[in-house]
Amino acid sequence: MLALNLLPAAPAHAFNLQGSGKGKHIIILGAGLAGMTSAYELTKLGYQCTVLEARTRTGGRCWSIRNGATAAETNNPQQTARFDNGLYFNAGPSRIPHHHQLTMHYCRELGVPLEVYNNVNESTYYYAEGKGPLSNKKVRAREVHNDMRGYMSELLAKAVDQRKLDTGLTQEDAAKVIEYLRAEGGLDVDKLYKASARRGYMEAPGAGTHAGKLGDPLRLAEIIQSGLLDPDFYNVAEYTYELQMTMFQAVGGMDQIAKALEKRVVGNLKLGAEVTAIQNQTEGVKITYKDQKGTHELTGDLCICTLPLPVLGNVNHNFSSDVSRAIDFVPYIQTGKIGLQFKRRFWEEDEQIFGGITHTNNDLTQIFYPSYDYLGKKGILIGYYNFNEKAKKVGELTYQEREKLALQKGQLIHPQYPKEFEQSFSVSWHKLPHSLGGWALYNSDERKTHYAALLKPEKNVYFAGEHTTYLTAWMAGAFESARSVVASVHGRLSEQRLSYPSVGSN
Ligand SMILES: Cc1cc2nc3c(=O)[nH]c(=O)nc-3n(C[C@H](O)[C@H](O)[C@H](O)COP(=O)(O)OP(=O)(O)OC[C@H]3O[C@@H](n4cnc5c(N)ncnc54)[C@H](O)[C@@H]3O)c2cc1C
Repeated sequence: MLALNLLPAAPAHAFNLQGSGKGKHIIILGAGLAGMTSAYELTKLGYQCTVLEARTRTGGRCWSIRNGATAAETNNPQQTARFDNGLYFNAGPSRIPHHHQLTMHYCRELGVPLEVYNNVNESTYYYAEGKGPLSNKKVRAREVHNDMRGYMSELLAKAVDQRKLDTGLTQEDAAKVIEYLRAEGGLDVDKLYKASARRGYMEAPGAGTHAGKLGDPLRLAEIIQSGLLDPDFYNVAEYTYELQMTMFQAVGGMDQIAKALEKRVVGNLKLGAEVTAIQNQTEGVKITYKDQKGTHELTGDLCICTLPLPVLGNVNHNFSSDVSRAIDFVPYIQTGKIGLQFKRRFWEEDEQIFGGITHTNNDLTQIFYPSYDYLGKKGILIGYYNFNEKAKKVGELTYQEREKLALQKGQLIHPQYPKEFEQSFSVSWHKLPHSLGGWALYNSDERKTHYAALLKPEKNVYFAGEHTTYLTAWMAGAFESARSVVASVHGRLSEQRLSYPSVGSN
């Protein structure tokens, strides 16, 4: 029906599908954003939906940690967050790109207020531990960025002047390029880079005779030898399409999006209901789940499964070998974060850092500064946000050992840590039993095989979730997948209705 233009494609506005789903029961597995959005849109159409969720909370990966939050990882006991009321950190999603139209749409439709998330901040640091002439010295991002712009512009200006470019330029065009390079790099009249106010001051300008004192540029060789041009630092993700400003966050924690969705589908939800088997039947599906009261079976016309693939690998099913292979072989990223509560916002008061990210080559990888409660008293930093091998290594530690590591490495950059630290809570996503990973990672071959297998319904079971989109690792993937699967389910059941008008109609 989509191909025939009988159903609108997923637009970033209210989803107005025609027809009624009355009399049909859809079982939705997982109350993350994909599952709850599917239920929300299907109930608007009159379908009866049951959402089975293993955890005792909704939201899945869309999870903010505040006082009282609990989690138990495999091989680690349950931990409980003991943050002050009003403070939180986002263990999962923390930023919304301005062009993720469906995420923005649902925030609008569900009444979730947004505020700007400051992702790019030139005041944050680059810290190369144990590498090169700048080893163990924190340098502001603005210093490295502007020194590199200066040096590269100077080199290029010289090449243009000496006609050493392999691109032929007219004299007039060459003059324009030089003019641009002087502006881009902050070059002087001789086209040389000798620092500028862009890279900041050693002494800030002020009243009276305080003209301000510029710092000397870092030397190009020391930037290179300290690894500050490596992917750990330079060309970091902040410059990718997804992470360019303007970015947003939900006011009060990103889980406000999940909570707003929950309100719309609360009557359809079964929390604490862990799915153990999915069986396609000749007609419909049979789902087995267990809760505190025991094991139950539930039948429905169709099923939408949003369980992350590594979790689905532990569920019994009678899927085809293509889908089974996808479930078993699509890798998920290992990733972890720790929230550190401090009694004073020293990064703001002492160092003028308001939001943004410090980058380091050690196990921390990144420190995120909060983009809420500026000038407040206390605050929570994300003390590390790491991936792959570093996340694996840190994830193998106990909660106490992770805290110790975050504090030890963090105080190399912020010596205020020991005096100001109060509480921590850490999450290793690949060790949380109902996630078992951060997000799906497909290479181009896997997109053609495993990914393609998940896009088709497996008889009466449809797959949704970030892993069924090209927006993996984003909430937008969950929303886009929900719309796509709802359109497919509704298209199929509407077609059946057209062929057999008596089925399910009254
Ligand atoms: C560390 C991290 C950072 C991120 N950063 C961002 C960001 O900045 N911006 C952004 O937009 N996105 C971000 N994302 C991605 C975003 O969180 C996800 O893409 C999105 O939340 C996935 O939603 P989902 O519904 O597909 O899956 P999930 O949220 O995983 O939902 C699946 C649900 O299934 C449930 N479940 C599992 N097993 C069972 C079972 N056996 N029975 C019943 N239920 C079960 C789970 O508990 C869960 O509720 C981040 C994710 C992580 C992990």
